[in-house]
Amino acid sequence: MQFKGVGVGRGLAVGPILRMPDPLPDPEPGRHAGNADAEYATATAALHAVAAELVARGAKAGGEAKDVLEAAAMMAGDPSLAEDVKSRIESGTTGERAVYEAFAAFQDILTGMGGYMAERATDLGDVAQRVIARLRGVPAPGVPTSDEPFILVAKDLAPADTALLDLAKVLALITRDGGPTSHTAILARSKSIPAIVGVTGALELTDGTIVVADASSGVVTTDPTEDEVSAVRARIEERSSAAAAPITDGVLADGTRVPLLANLGSPADAAEAVALGAEGVGLFRTEFLFLDAKTAPTVEEQQAKYSELLSHFPGRKVVVRALDAGADKPLSFLNDAHEENPALGLRGLRALRASEQILRDQLTALANAQAATGAELWVMAPMVSDAEETEYFVALGRELGLTTVGVMAEVPSLAVVADQVLESADFVSIGTNDLTQYTLAADRMLGSVASYQDPWHPAVLRLVKMLGDAGAAAGKPVGICGEAAADPQLAVVLVGLGATTLSMTPAALADVRAELLGVTLAEARERATRALAARTAAEARTAASA
Ligand code: PEP
Ligand code: MG
Repeated sequence: MQFKGVGVGRGLAVGPILRMPDPLPDPEPGRHAGNADAEYATATAALHAVAAELVARGAKAGGEAKDVLEAAAMMAGDPSLAEDVKSRIESGTTGERAVYEAFAAFQDILTGMGGYMAERATDLGDVAQRVIARLRGVPAPGVPTSDEPFILVAKDLAPADTALLDLAKVLALITRDGGPTSHTAILARSKSIPAIVGVTGALELTDGTIVVADASSGVVTTDPTEDEVSAVRARIEERSSAAAAPITDGVLADGTRVPLLANLGSPADAAEAVALGAEGVGLFRTEFLFLDAKTAPTVEEQQAKYSELLSHFPGRKVVVRALDAGADKPLSFLNDAHEENPALGLRGLRALRASEQILRDQLTALANAQAATGAELWVMAPMVSDAEETEYFVALGRELGLTTVGVMAEVPSLAVVADQVLESADFVSIGTNDLTQYTLAADRMLGSVASYQDPWHPAVLRLVKMLGDAGAAAGKPVGICGEAAADPQLAVVLVGLGATTLSMTPAALADVRAELLGVTLAEARERATRALAARTAAEARTAASA
């Protein structure tokens, strides 16, 4: 049987399941014996004791876990929460029930706030359970322990749990709830534990069941065959040797160079990317710097950020993307209009062109940063449809002092007229995330059509080939900067289709580097040819690895 969720990272594991114990039953509504002061004193003592315990656990765990546990301790010690508990006890409610209700009210507020705050609501529920357990005199719910390594399955993991995980024993984490920014995901990433979150049906798994948890596909497979287990073990082995392999520049077995670049959203992430062997930046998502801005950023403000980024890559290539507003990345100062289908709306270059001064300011800031740092800066536009839009962007970039100006290939029309586009663009960078969304007409934000969002689809691969061929004919670079480049097997196929560079989240660099080292350009082309002839994404995957 298979279950699907959202994978965190690219790790995988095989082993027996251990379920997190069920939470304590909620305290029934009830009235205390009449001594509100004594009831409140007991409740306060429990709140303080839990706060102290969380701080102590944080000190033991250290690192990021410490911050998370200290934040949970602060929730337990929150004076407004204590006030709420007090007034509920004064109106006759038992201490246990008052704690339960006060925490639930606090949780509702956080949930109503949405996003990051809503995900913190889980932490609050955990703190409440610990306080109630203490009031009942029973052990706090927590992670199971075992002498044998296991895969932990839970509804969701609270910070107190994740901080206490015995990393030597936990092979992977599977949770029913939680998204890519939940604590399970954040801590799994920081501890390099494979994790799959949001797995509907996870709680049907019973203790002892053997499963394969594959974070790269987000799939949990129960009762694998012996052959499947051996294949997984071989992949785990391969991954650990890839991670331990020396960091080299990207190169194929025959010596063909394929520079490996980083996708970044903030200059703060640059140092880590360099440490992981990024040879430069293939996609800097400038809109990530200004997601909260109500007004357009100034030239000076932007210049400072871009200069900081460039300073990490002396003599290296850094590809910066002009603001990509719209759909999954709204920027209120660029497009505030309500649109029925924002992915098909005034986004990317379309929005920039409608507010040309904002685009001019950004390109000026970039040209200034380039002049100040002497870096090799390339600038590209997102969501470009054809040669006319390309000419517009390239001309504006040159007018404002940029030397290397290109476009992203995300809209299928751009691939179809790639030869025309490359008459003016200095380079093309393929954004496979959007290219897949638009080719298969499947909203990348919508879970119900997630199966269509597969860049292995031959239709997507054929568009990549059109772009690769056009690049080769024009003698201009065609890079990849979508998530597809982070899939080692697909990365090889993309090179076979003509990609000249691969840019990805830095954590994926080691796996891709190792995979490239094992194939020649001729082999990559053969794999690409087989994948192109397939009829579905799944067939392409199989054909490429045959
Ligand atoms: C893409 O669409 O593939 C891409 C790299 O851009 P983003 O994911 O930021 O839309
Ligand atoms: Mg995109």
